[in-house]
Amino acid sequence: MYFPIYLLLVFLILYVSTPQTGGARNKAFYIYPSEFKDDMMAMIRQGRVWPTVFTPVKNPENADFTIKVVPRKQMDSMLITPEKVEYYPNTKKRIHFSYTVNGQHIYIDEENWRNGVLESGLSVKDYRQYVLFHEIGHVLGYGHQPCLTKKCPIMYQMTRGPPTGYGQEGVELGPVDVKGLKLLKRL
Ligand SMILES: [Zn+2]
Repeated sequence: MYFPIYLLLVFLILYVSTPQTGGARNKAFYIYPSEFKDDMMAMIRQGRVWPTVFTPVKNPENADFTIKVVPRKQMDSMLITPEKVEYYPNTKKRIHFSYTVNGQHIYIDEENWRNGVLESGLSVKDYRQYVLFHEIGHVLGYGHQPCLTKKCPIMYQMTRGPPTGYGQEGVELGPVDVKGLKLLKRL
């Protein structure tokens, strides 16, 4: 059968010029337990941190990533090995982090979520925003960044507390890592 070459060209042009979904631009997520859903959903809806469309799904099997709030005891038995235990400098107070495993599964320390972390210098609301968008940053492939200005970038580990003299005004929730953003576009 004769197939006009110009039709093939039209298809090609349409294909190339249509924005492709998937990859880092579109991510389906699932939150559990349901108790934390409304709060997190509202933050994700309002947050303008990452250039990604986040879509909630009803079945975790259809999610690109999951967010789970985990009781501290369970966190310890699930994820913490002795070499991972860290203390705030010159104290015996343990630092309790949240984790993203395999770039897919976010585990947020329940006590941190409920009460915030005093050492971070953030209000409970700001700490929640920070930890949620920080871990989502890991899902999108971002690594940690240093805090070198008054506002620490979202990928700085704020749970440690800001470095002396920095971070007194809270966490920068904007996309500060330009290099990272360029990298993201290639994903
Ligand atoms: Zn991190």
